[in-house]
Amino acid sequence: MTIVHNLGFPRIGAQRELKFALESYWKGESTRDALLSVGAELRQRHWQQQAGLDLAPVGDFSFYDQVLDMSFTLGNLPERVRGFHGDALDNYFRVARGRSAQTADHHACCGGVAAGEMTKWFDTNYHYIVPEFTAATTFQLDASRLLEQLAEAQAQGLKAKPVIVGPVTYLALGKAKDGSNKLELLDNLLAAYTQLLDALAARGVEWVQVDEPILVTELDADWQYAFNYAYHQLKVCRVKLLVATYFGQLQENTYLAANLPVAGLHVDAVNGRDDVRPLLNLLPPHKVLSLGVINGRNIWKTDLTDVLDWLEPLARQLGERLWIAPSCSLLHVPVDLNSERKLDADIRSWLAYAVQKLDELQVLAQALRGGRASVSDALAENQTALAARRASPRVHNPAVRQAVAQADADLGRRVSPYAERAARQAALLQLPAYPTTTIGSFPQTAEIRHARSAYKAGTLDAAAYKGAMQAEIARSVREQEALGLDVLVHGEAERNDMVEYFGEQLDGYAFSQFGWVQSYGSRCVKPPILFGDISRPRAMTVEWTTYAQSLTGKPMKGMLTGPVTILNWSFVRDDQPRSESCKQLALAIRQEVLDLEQAGVRVIQIDEAALREGLPLRRAQWQAYLDWAVESFRIAANGVQDCTQIHTHMCYSEFNDIMAAIAAMDADVITIETSRSDMELLDAFDHFNYPNQIGPGVYDIHSPNIPTREHIVQLMKKAAERIPAQRLWVNPDCGLKTRQWGEVLPALANMVAAARELRQVA
Ligand code: GLN
Ligand code: ZN
Repeated sequence: MTIVHNLGFPRIGAQRELKFALESYWKGESTRDALLSVGAELRQRHWQQQAGLDLAPVGDFSFYDQVLDMSFTLGNLPERVRGFHGDALDNYFRVARGRSAQTADHHACCGGVAAGEMTKWFDTNYHYIVPEFTAATTFQLDASRLLEQLAEAQAQGLKAKPVIVGPVTYLALGKAKDGSNKLELLDNLLAAYTQLLDALAARGVEWVQVDEPILVTELDADWQYAFNYAYHQLKVCRVKLLVATYFGQLQENTYLAANLPVAGLHVDAVNGRDDVRPLLNLLPPHKVLSLGVINGRNIWKTDLTDVLDWLEPLARQLGERLWIAPSCSLLHVPVDLNSERKLDADIRSWLAYAVQKLDELQVLAQALRGGRASVSDALAENQTALAARRASPRVHNPAVRQAVAQADADLGRRVSPYAERAARQAALLQLPAYPTTTIGSFPQTAEIRHARSAYKAGTLDAAAYKGAMQAEIARSVREQEALGLDVLVHGEAERNDMVEYFGEQLDGYAFSQFGWVQSYGSRCVKPPILFGDISRPRAMTVEWTTYAQSLTGKPMKGMLTGPVTILNWSFVRDDQPRSESCKQLALAIRQEVLDLEQAGVRVIQIDEAALREGLPLRRAQWQAYLDWAVESFRIAANGVQDCTQIHTHMCYSEFNDIMAAIAAMDADVITIETSRSDMELLDAFDHFNYPNQIGPGVYDIHSPNIPTREHIVQLMKKAAERIPAQRLWVNPDCGLKTRQWGEVLPALANMVAAARELRQVA
């Protein structure tokens, strides 16, 4: 009989209970016991929701992050938080979130503690706390968290399958702080894992899921060797290991993965379906193969009939050795579609959140066990929903398809090369050397948020809302004029979020109420749902921008989010390639760009904050992505006249690998995040001989600190050693929406003063 299992369940709660419990605990408004009991309740509820499974995941719950949990289990805490007595949970949060020296802290001795570094979990929008290593790192098992949760699950009558981050992935994702070779820690690390697995065996555990997603990335010989070595060492343990891989294809690691000396292997059969046949030939005959057949990364219903067509022959071949599961942990999807009250009925009928995905899995399992006839109603219902989606006129817009088909490379080409455009723009804009600007948003004040929620609740009418937003725009224009900035922005008061704002105005987008997915810690995002062909029924930003322009003689920068970023921060459709959806978005943004130009806006910024994060896991696939991503940006941006200045903005600091793509976008000006890298990342632009203008950020907007004029001058001088001064702008790292006016005004005053000083020297 096919075993049905799950790799992990979302932990945040259908109503984001964990988020609220954490935040209230952090603020000191609730007790530790209250937080612990919310955790226990959520685990219990989530196990109930998974009660139909043959094996339920245990240890996938976390108060912050599963990788940080593993660091605690292994006793691998950064030196700076060791030796704190007091509460273990507080110490855990200390690593997760850091603690500044200023905040009141009952451990008077501790002063400031820097948080662990956070980075993206593979190609998801989930962020984990990076394990820290040095040559002196030792490990000391503390299995208490896992054993306690195991006892809870067992008490609830579940067949529990503990889930842990595997040793090789754990090591690979961590950072050697002293530049030492992490692999030298492997033996010690394996000793701790062995103890852990033995402790689980002693509690009656049969299977342990060991997550090794690093197997879907390119591995060099040392790391391949580490895999073989590690699992040969762990062979002595008395539990059966299921090595779980997900998020992509095994490709050249197929042989390695198939032959690890473990009892089972899980593979992503959504992204890696093509790997499965070759894998069958390599897999030793005693091994369990778990196929992840339900997509754990999107919110669409699965085509169950299609999966069965593919799966049934495999099931006959594998018999008892076949397990089925979602492709990856369901951490990356929202909890329960039944929470949604306002979602359009058509669209809702096409969706599946975590709970529904597990239902789908049960239908598949039942079909494999008892034949399709035993679940004919469920299969028919599934087919009906999918057929309705395929045929829906809301999904398909022939005019959009035609426009995309006709979009050729010419659409993405500016009239003249950069140098000619730059001369025309300079003549028109008359900007000083080292022109100053900001990245778009100004503080989202309490008044703005109140006005928006009153408007959404219907207690503030449209005219009053518009008036309130215009007042904010007027305020930010006034402040910018007083500061003496050169290119102004309207401040984005009317935007709740840089993607949602556009999605709400585009046809082809839907919005959920409870489609929350954990991003890190208590932070969740609710990506809008791109379900159909994208079109723009009317202008989205022109009114706000022209209003702002009417208040000043300085150039007002139009502010848009680019197609790649809108795509990468949405749940996107699975019935066409991402590239196709991106082109549709590009055409919609292009219309907005041209409307802004038509309305007299001379400078237009198109943010591509998420361009880099869309890079595929394997380098071999990067170029194909960059090709269509850059092409989409070019289509959106480059339809304008020479004299219209296009800006783009990217708030990150790794450009080395993507310089050619950045240059191919051909924006007249790019603003980037640099203040924390001390301008070193400009080397990438320097070495590439990047030809256009650059605004390296000189103000770290993540910090409440006010940068001094001297510091900004010094940073800009470093910049000028790499990029000719006549191509430099002076601006913050990113938008200012999370800051207070009280911080922003003095910081920008220093920035403007620094630019003036630089002009005098120049
Ligand atoms: N224009 C946006 C802002 O200023 C850019 C945000 C971002 O890059 N993440 O808020
Ligand atoms: Zn930014």
